[in-house]
Amino acid sequence: MASNSGIRIPSRLPLLLTHEGVLLPGSTMRISVDTARNMQLVKSRLLKGTSLKSTIIGVIPNTRDPEHEAEDLPTLHSIGVAGLAVQVVGSNWPKPHYTLLITGLCRLRVTQLLKERPFPVAEVEQLDKLEQYTSADADAAAADAASADSADTAGELGELSQRFYQTAVQLVGMLDMSVPVVAKLRRLLDSLPRETLPDVITAMIRTSNQEKLQVLDAVGLEERFRRTLPLLTRQIEGLKLLQKTRKPRPDDDKRVLAVRRGGVFPGRQFSLEDEGEEEGGDDTAVLERKVRLANMPEPALRVCLKELKRLKKMPQSMPEFALTRNYLELMVELPWSKSTTDCLDIRAARVLLDSDHYAMEKLKRRVLEYLAVRQLKRALKGPILCFVGPPGVGKTSVGRSIARTLGREFHRIALGGVCDQSDIRGHRRTYVGSMPGRIINGLKTVGVNNPVFLLDEVDKLGKSLQGDPAAALLEVLDPEQNHSFTDHYLNVAFDLSQVLFIATANTTATIPPALLDRMEVLQVPGYTQEEKVEIAHRHLIPQQLEQHGLTPQQLQIPQHTTQDIISRYTREAGVRSLERKIGAVCRAVAVKVAEGHKVCKPESPPPERAPSAGEAGERVGRGEESLDGSTELALPPEMPIVIDRHALRDILGLPLFEMEVSERLTLPGVAIGLAWTPLGGEIMFVEASRMEGEGQLTLTGQLGDVMKESAQLAISWLRSNAKKYQLTNPGGGADPLEGTDIHLHFPAGAVTKDGPSAGVTMVTCLASLFSGRLVRSDVAMTGEITLRGLVLPVGGIKDKVLAAHRAGLKRVVLPKRNEKDLEEIPAHVRAELDFVTASSLDQVLNAAFDGGFPAVSPAIGQPQVTSKL
Ligand code: ADP
Repeated sequence: MASNSGIRIPSRLPLLLTHEGVLLPGSTMRISVDTARNMQLVKSRLLKGTSLKSTIIGVIPNTRDPEHEAEDLPTLHSIGVAGLAVQVVGSNWPKPHYTLLITGLCRLRVTQLLKERPFPVAEVEQLDKLEQYTSADADAAAADAASADSADTAGELGELSQRFYQTAVQLVGMLDMSVPVVAKLRRLLDSLPRETLPDVITAMIRTSNQEKLQVLDAVGLEERFRRTLPLLTRQIEGLKLLQKTRKPRPDDDKRVLAVRRGGVFPGRQFSLEDEGEEEGGDDTAVLERKVRLANMPEPALRVCLKELKRLKKMPQSMPEFALTRNYLELMVELPWSKSTTDCLDIRAARVLLDSDHYAMEKLKRRVLEYLAVRQLKRALKGPILCFVGPPGVGKTSVGRSIARTLGREFHRIALGGVCDQSDIRGHRRTYVGSMPGRIINGLKTVGVNNPVFLLDEVDKLGKSLQGDPAAALLEVLDPEQNHSFTDHYLNVAFDLSQVLFIATANTTATIPPALLDRMEVLQVPGYTQEEKVEIAHRHLIPQQLEQHGLTPQQLQIPQHTTQDIISRYTREAGVRSLERKIGAVCRAVAVKVAEGHKVCKPESPPPERAPSAGEAGERVGRGEESLDGSTELALPPEMPIVIDRHALRDILGLPLFEMEVSERLTLPGVAIGLAWTPLGGEIMFVEASRMEGEGQLTLTGQLGDVMKESAQLAISWLRSNAKKYQLTNPGGGADPLEGTDIHLHFPAGAVTKDGPSAGVTMVTCLASLFSGRLVRSDVAMTGEITLRGLVLPVGGIKDKVLAAHRAGLKRVVLPKRNEKDLEEIPAHVRAELDFVTASSLDQVLNAAFDGGFPAVSPAIGQPQVTSKL
């Protein structure tokens, strides 16, 4: 439709060829210019020209990629838009280019190409009427439009334009009127001539370049209305759909309007875009979708939506943007309602626990009881199990098995050394570098809300100025509170009631009492030598072989070698060192196997060892001399390498521990006590000596107050009974302390010791010193004493007895009231030890000295021996 009225554009125009985006009359567009022809145009026309006319250029859309424009001009699209260059920005980076801001004025048709170089110039024909946009003229334009309307009312065009106008009004009505841009657009709809509406609206709504091109090509007004009407309806449908999915936030769907660019004509500078068209917005939209899909409880969702709202308003460059995003991402990742289904079958659980762990019957029984109750009650509220025992006795490993039997995820939270409560409960988000606590982090890691959490080493929690982590743990563990555990970082409650907590510790002594109160303590004692051998052969050796890529056909460790490793290379209650030593053996053998299994085969078995039937002749590393010697042979590859004592010495070095008990008891004034440490039981030599002096007692070996008092008690009791036991001082006087100083020492001086249980040992040791008689070298003892010579019960009997058994002792003296504890001791250990239960010191001394200790009173007979239980 050619127009004779209004402003006329020049009939000759330079042409800007674009290959992306379509400029429509009434819209503004940013065009990047970097091709030779276009650059020339900008340089010589836009930058040099001074008149308004020089800023008008023809913009021809959809030219094939001008990058590849050769000498010849590509075929031009015949219809373009006369554009007004509003802004030109040049830049040299990454390569020289200009960015033009161009506002479309009206359609034009290229009638004749006048020149091609340095940039195309063409004769053009103006196709649209161009109104002058001044406020005075706006009314005239409106009147003009109205008169045009009235002229066409009967025609189809009038109907179409009316329909288009109404649809556009409907679209704008769906947007948030409180946004100033929308309000302005609404006003513009009424003031703009109707025939400009298709172009203006098409540029604003979501349309593809192809669709825009079709609208551009629609020179006839009627056709233009017909083409744009479906696009408008499509946008409305899209908006409706969006509104439906976002019901909870009515103000959200109004946000689809975003200001994109400025323009010369007031009211022609907007663009309607769905949220998410731009990259940053896209991310936020994805995040929002995730938030809605995360299935979080109402309060958490509310907080997330609030944060999202803030996020949308924030510029991306703001540091808080990243913080808020991280927060929202964590919220989305948390397993608010994701859980695994428990598949608890007590019979299967029993089989699994038995197959994973040898021995530890009591613990396994209690764990099964616990699981059975859970199965019946289908609820978790119950005590938190706390496994207490020395390192390496399988506490963690039982926890892992429990998770497996339940079919739950397992996560270990190491608490050793944690002394800041934010470690448990997170930092508030106001802090730089704030992050959630270990509980929430753990949940994020496992991805379900009902894992088994192993709180490892609760006894090693520290305390500091940053608050008490134990107090924070209380909230986590308390079934009455933990359904709304609030991490400081999250700042909303998370339900921990489905999490199964298990704690482990080496000792209950340092567990904060309030925490201990919430837990049911299950003691996991150390293993006997025999149990260790079994564990090694059933579990550790197969595991280590697998870890080192070896097979039983390549490496065999006979039982007596394992025993050697246990007694000569390790001294521990658990099996962790044993596992490491077996690992060392495997590594050494792996080298041999990888080297081609060149091992020696001695002609005769070594004299110091009687080989068992299965291993005769098969050995490795018979010392350096045999490896280098002439007897060296290459065994066939299928021959297993069998580790014997010599191979062991080669691989692990000289034995670290030797039996030293009998050597040390060759002088009067030495006795063996039994001590309990968090690492298991230990035997302890107590030494005493006396010298001329003034009756002073010196105690060394880092003793605590209780032990020092025990020493005083022992001396007092012996002095008061010196006559009865014929104890004398070196000069033969009746008071053993007269003119004498006493020194009592507890070896392993670097280790702090305390507790009352060394009382009987001190008495025995001093009795030996004062009487000059030797204590039996195969007796160990434990028990608290009183001033009147009674023996009181003590703790840790099982570990202590096992330590005595490990050390090869034969008789153990215990307080009478500890007799019941003997039941816990494995039968074969009991069978190999004599147990003397004593209620008074007389009985202890009688058991400790060969032939008894001289007792004046005939009433006190031989100690009651309950050996071979
Ligand atoms: P803890 O947690 O008590 O310090 P771990 O559970 O880490 O000890 O155990 C150390 C190693 O010893 C693990 O490889 C474990 O499988 C093994 N272990 C300990 N006790 C047993 C047992 N009774 N049966 C089988 N393996 C065991």
